[in-house]
Amino acid sequence: MLKKSAKNIVIYDTTLRDGSQTEGVSYTVPDKLKITEKLDELGVHYIEGGWPGSNPKDKEYFDLMKGKKLKNAKLAAFGSTRRANIKPEDDANLKGLIESETPTVTIFGKTWDLHVTDVIKTTLDENLKMIFESVAFLKKHKREVFYDAEHFFDGYKNNPKYALKTVEAAAKAKADCIILCDTNGGTLPEEITKIVKEVRKKIKGDLGIHTHNDQDMAVANSLAAINAGCIQVQGTFNGLGERCGNADLCTIMAILHTKMGRKSIPEAKIKHLMEATYYISEISNYKISSNHAFIGHSAFAHKGGVHIDAMLKNPKAYEHINPEIVGNHRRLLTSELAGKMPIVLKAAKMNINLDKNSPEAKEIMLALQEKEHKGYSFEGADASFELFMKRHLRLYQSFFHLDGFKVFTEKKLDGSVIAGATVRLKVNGHDEMSAVEGHGPVEVLDKALRGALRKFYPNLEHMHLTDNKVRVLDTKDGTSARVRVLIESQDDKDSWTTVGVHENVIEASWEALVDGIEYKLLKDKK
Ligand SMILES: [Zn+2]
Repeated sequence: MLKKSAKNIVIYDTTLRDGSQTEGVSYTVPDKLKITEKLDELGVHYIEGGWPGSNPKDKEYFDLMKGKKLKNAKLAAFGSTRRANIKPEDDANLKGLIESETPTVTIFGKTWDLHVTDVIKTTLDENLKMIFESVAFLKKHKREVFYDAEHFFDGYKNNPKYALKTVEAAAKAKADCIILCDTNGGTLPEEITKIVKEVRKKIKGDLGIHTHNDQDMAVANSLAAINAGCIQVQGTFNGLGERCGNADLCTIMAILHTKMGRKSIPEAKIKHLMEATYYISEISNYKISSNHAFIGHSAFAHKGGVHIDAMLKNPKAYEHINPEIVGNHRRLLTSELAGKMPIVLKAAKMNINLDKNSPEAKEIMLALQEKEHKGYSFEGADASFELFMKRHLRLYQSFFHLDGFKVFTEKKLDGSVIAGATVRLKVNGHDEMSAVEGHGPVEVLDKALRGALRKFYPNLEHMHLTDNKVRVLDTKDGTSARVRVLIESQDDKDSWTTVGVHENVIEASWEALVDGIEYKLLKDKK
């Protein structure tokens, strides 16, 4: 049963079902199991595992889940109401839902008269029977039943009387929660508020909301529905989903917690939101945008000197919440212009008490200016900046030493292009060598470097490059142009950026790659 407290909002995650329809996202069964475990750990109330009737992969997932016990969440199987003009017990889709043996089943049905007559081509009356009988059938099998009223808001705008009849049919059959869906994502918050309030007057039981993000309104619409009386919210992590995606559950939970005084997942888990999002994005192979609300890399990054100055006096000056609440952290972007304060603050973050007027602070400031003069930009590369600081304060010991590397690119007679790299290192006194072939020079260099280190640092398996930017810089001597390479790496908890500068693009990439790996090793050591 859903929690009845007026303050508690039930979180229903559909990353594994709606989220798997994102362009470019495809989950294997082991992927789905890993995400399930993570969501359960985070404390979401419901995990929609998939649609057992739609593909063998989802069926296999539900078969494997039969032997697993979840700590916090309930597993839900998704499907549709029965087909027209047959009995529910003869419907393969409903049978598949029962055979999944999940405690909760969510089925969707048609609300919009246009969909009934033009898409599934049946009568309006038969559609009401399909809803009632399907819900009643699942209730007879002792399932908790959630009814997703597909296209509810569009249906209501077109024919409110009929739209209400469809959800009344589900309520009469004792659905445990009726979820109003903005399937096409075209509704505005004020319409959501008005319509949910009208439904609230007619339906006594629990209501939920399921929105899509086609107008960037999915989160706003979900919150409007909650304010109007919905107690369950459906969505995905990172807003994954078809077209423009679904409502982003992470943002919703963060807002419920920090702004609306409403409870969702356990309070102690809110600070794990960022980590959970990165973990899921890793498995989904979906990059989190750096300006993503709450958990983006830049969500609490301050750049302007005036802003930084104000932040030092009071962090509230340019932050709407304390970033640590959701597991994120404040970043003061470093540049020549910002003065010594970011250096002092960065040191403080590393538990080093560095006086603004000390000789060390001055030395680092000068070294930084020198680096920036050469073309380094630490503004976006704070992982390299942290390493730079530690090296200067002699607080850093390298994890390995380079003996040499070689990279080649070859274009063959048949037009194909291959690249290869050999890396020689010293690790803890051992000589290591690794040779790799592949497509591009940075890729093979990265693989060869990791190949040589793998034995000593197995945790490097859990990181990879997500972005690689090369920029040609103007040089003063006018002979050879310097290039700046920014490399972004990610693991299952966080992402970080490193920088390298050289006349040779391979050397610049090498420098950024090494920093990326050293940063990961340092981070895991802590
Ligand atoms: Zn949906």
